[in-house]
Formats: sequence, structure tokens, C-alpha cells
Amino acid sequence: MTDLKEAHVVRFVHDTLPQRIRFATGGAAGHLAEEVTEGGFRRVMVIAAAAEKEPAEHVARDLPVVLWHHEVAMHVPADVAERGRQAAAEHRADVLVCVGGGSTTGLAKAIALTTGLPIIAVPTTYAGSEATDVWGITTHARKTTGTDRRVLPRTIVYDPALTLTLPLDVSIASGLNALAHCVDSLWAPRANPINAAFAGEGIRALNTGLPQIVADPADISGRELLLHGSYLAAAAFASAGSGLHHKICHVLGGMFDLPHAQTHAVVLPHVLAFNAHAAPEAESRIATAFGTASATAGLARLRSTLDSPVSLREYSMPENGIRPAVQAILAAAPADNPRSLTADNLTALLHAAWEGAPPR
Ligand code: NAD
Repeated sequence: MTDLKEAHVVRFVHDTLPQRIRFATGGAAGHLAEEVTEGGFRRVMVIAAAAEKEPAEHVARDLPVVLWHHEVAMHVPADVAERGRQAAAEHRADVLVCVGGGSTTGLAKAIALTTGLPIIAVPTTYAGSEATDVWGITTHARKTTGTDRRVLPRTIVYDPALTLTLPLDVSIASGLNALAHCVDSLWAPRANPINAAFAGEGIRALNTGLPQIVADPADISGRELLLHGSYLAAAAFASAGSGLHHKICHVLGGMFDLPHAQTHAVVLPHVLAFNAHAAPEAESRIATAFGTASATAGLARLRSTLDSPVSLREYSMPENGIRPAVQAILAAAPADNPRSLTADNLTALLHAAWEGAPPR
């Protein structure tokens, strides 16, 4: 008999997060009304940034709304979260409906974290926060994150028509943010074959959808691919945890107040080039999903079709910020990253991302 201790055996733990997903182009208003009725909710708090007021009013028009809440800010400042919680309590809301990108979903999560109110999320970007149980709140320029099942939306209502207004440059950066969830999940601390299946299909959908919306931003089939790809990406990320890429972006975003999706878009090719040779299974899955000879060739081919962000300095990160960032990333990086990190190789990676040099 084979000695299983000696043989290579597959061993993992996988959590599937419980959520209902409703997906229909042009179907958000109907799906939302059904969800609210089925859940027996009578006092809806709608959360939407001022910029998304109009689409939010449109999709929530048939709901018993007791409060329209428009104070949303990137990275969920603690005072914004606190005012949202107070407003929910004052109006005795029994459900939160958030319509917007990751910042809006993030505020709903911060309210749910302390009130336990259920969330129905209507995403309008490809950030994917709606499919994770990760929350984040910023106090004095320092973002604290954690996981808690109370912040996981009970239902996601996807309507690709709501993403048609997302400007093309933001759509590209946001789509590459989703792609980063797929790629990083393949070597993150809880990587497993189930996440990998999601990640592979997510890469395929995003790689097809992004060039379609570049050719025609109103191409609804491209928008559909991007939204379903962004769900797969976020589900893979939620289960696998943060790999090197996410740790780097978290440190850079916090230290230099960089825009979230654009930072991911710039850093991804550098982390992929850094890890690919040391992670052959991940490399092969990414290459297969892109339909190219290698993972890096696949990402380079996709990026050559997009006008995507290339450097961190274009977002005002100072060059002398590289050194403190390296120290912070070394302290936070996953111990089991496929390739060992040193101050030297990380400095080279960050410098290339800062100046927009080709990934090495
Ligand atoms: P965002 O929500 O800040 O939106 C970016 C901009 O796009 C905003 O100005 C917004 O008003 C606008 N916008 C959104 N949808 C639009 C639409 N359909 N049409 C026109 N304009 C639109 O950015 P984001 O990248 O979606 O989210 C970033 C935030 O989400 C960060 O704080 C990040 O940390 C968080 N996030 C959290 C998780 C998680 O799992 N907790 C995952 C991903 C992102």
C-alpha cells in the first residue's frame, strides 16, 4: 500500500460564502423589489454616493424606502461610518440596499458590522467587494480591515446596464482590479483548486470583456462578461485571502492615498512577472485562461489592447516613498509567497511600478 504520508496528497479547506446572486441586464429594479418582498423588509435604507443618486433612485423606485443616504467616501472614514450607523438607527431601517462601487458597498458593510442589518448590494463597478466578507474602516489615515460574516451581503443584484455610465478609463482600471483578484488568489495563503477554477474562468471572462468595451464602451455583452468575471474574481479572492499583490497595493494605497483600482492595475504585471516562474501551476492556469504560451505574455497582450495605467508616479506617489513602503510590505507579505522576498528584489519591483518600466 502507498504510504500517504510520503506521497503528494491534495489537502485543503474551502469555505463557500452563502449568497444569492441575481443577474439580469436591465433587471435590477424588479430583482430588488422581489428580494425586499421575499425578505419581509419594510424599512429600506438606500446607500448611494451623490454621483450615483439617479441610478439608485431608478432601481429602488418600488421599494419602501425610509432613508436615502448619500454620504459616501473612499476607504470608509470612521466618522462617515458612524453617521451612517446613526442614520440607520434613527430611521429604524431593517435592510441596507447599497448602489455603487466598492466605496458604497464598504459603507454598507461598516453599518452592518455594528448593527447586524442585512445588505442587498447592487454593484456598479468591478471592484467585487459585494462578494467578500471583508470590511475596512479608516481612522486618522490608517485603514483597518477584518472579516466578519455580518458584512457579507445576503444578495447581490447584478445589472450590467448600470455599469454603462462608468467612464472607459475607470472601467479598464476596475476590470484590471478584478483580474488582480483572480491572479493573486492562485498563490494566496488559502489557494485551493476550487478558487483556482473560479479564477481561471474569471480571467477568461475579463480577458474577453475588456477588449470588447474598449472597442465599444456600450457593448452590453462585454459589460456582462466583466460583471460576471468580477464576481468570480472576488469569490476566489474572498476564499483564498490576500496574496503578495494585495499586500503591496494595501500598503501603497494607505501610505500614499493612491486610487484603489488604478494601483492594482499598475502593480499587477510586476507581481505576475515576479512570481510566475516560482509558481508553475498558477502560471499554467493563467496562461491557459489567456490562451497564450505564458501568463506574462497573456497579460501583456491584454494590456496592449487597453489604455491602462502604467506607473505609480502618475498618481503622485513620491519616489522616496519606495523605501518605507518596502519595509512595510516585507512585514505584511505572506510567508509562503512562491518567491522569497528581499529588500532588494522588492525595491526593484516597486521602482519598476513607480516609473512605469516594463515588468521584469
Ligand atoms: P469607488 O466605489 O470609489 O468608485 C470609483 C468612482 O466611480 C467614484 O467616483 C464613483 O462615484 C464612480 N462610479 C461608480 N459606479 C459608477 C457608474 N456605474 N457610473 C459612473 N460612475 C461610477 O471605487 P471602487 O474601485 O469600485 O472601490 C474601491 C473601494 O472598494 C476601496 O475602498 C477598496 O478598498 C474597496 N474594496 C473592498 C473590497 C472588499 O472585499 N472589502 C474589495 C474590493 C474593493
